[in-house]
Amino acid sequence: MSQIGENIKAIQQQKAEAARRAGRDPEDILLVAVTKTYGPEAMNQAIEAGITDIGESKVQEILDKFDSVLPVRWHMIGHLQTNKVKYIIDKVAMIHSVDSLKLAKEIDRRAAQHGLTMDILLQVNAAEEESKFGVSMEDTEGLLQQILAECPNLRIKGLMHIAPAADDPEDVRVWFREVKKLYDKLGAAQHPNLDFHWLSMGMSHDFPVAVEEGSNMIRVGTAIFGQRYYPEKN
Ligand SMILES: *Cc1c(COP(=O)(O)O)cnc(C)c1O
Repeated sequence: MSQIGENIKAIQQQKAEAARRAGRDPEDILLVAVTKTYGPEAMNQAIEAGITDIGESKVQEILDKFDSVLPVRWHMIGHLQTNKVKYIIDKVAMIHSVDSLKLAKEIDRRAAQHGLTMDILLQVNAAEEESKFGVSMEDTEGLLQQILAECPNLRIKGLMHIAPAADDPEDVRVWFREVKKLYDKLGAAQHPNLDFHWLSMGMSHDFPVAVEEGSNMIRVGTAIFGQRYYPEKN
């Protein structure tokens, strides 16, 4: 088995253990392999090892790699500028990073042009970190209601959260717990375009804690593919 395959197997095991500790079914938790900066070869190894969903944070990387990668579901997990929605609207299965009505309306408009309904998650910046995108916990319900009212071609499938950086993942457990509470609250509303199913949280260093607190979609990059190297900018 490839090193990437070994790493995936190890993560699936850790995921399963965390799920069992929380009394949950490991099968209910989806591993999204985050492939930013890695090339198609590494990505295809991951897909051959069983990965069904990949996450990218830049539009350009999706476009560059799209035709060289085996069939897989693509997730847009990074900040998305409105003027770039048109490039990925027919390529991704889900957009995790919706945090404004303006962005939602542009995705809605492009989805309509393509005759499709786009699945989205609302990105919650629970700790209200300046350095991160996302809507505050307080403003999430308002944004959700506006999107339901104004964006008929979007289906809101849940929430996404990026925990603050911490040496000890126990330090961010509280944020996972708070976002799970919000997820349960918002998901209880009734609307044809509201179909909460995904709580996307947990990355390489904190996914076991996220799973214990209710995440059912983890986004893991470096633990699968190794250290990322960003090209030098001139
Ligand atoms: C890069 C990234 C990840 C994966 O991070 P790792 O620490 O490499 O697992 C997850 N989610 C988002 C939004 C990212 O940008």
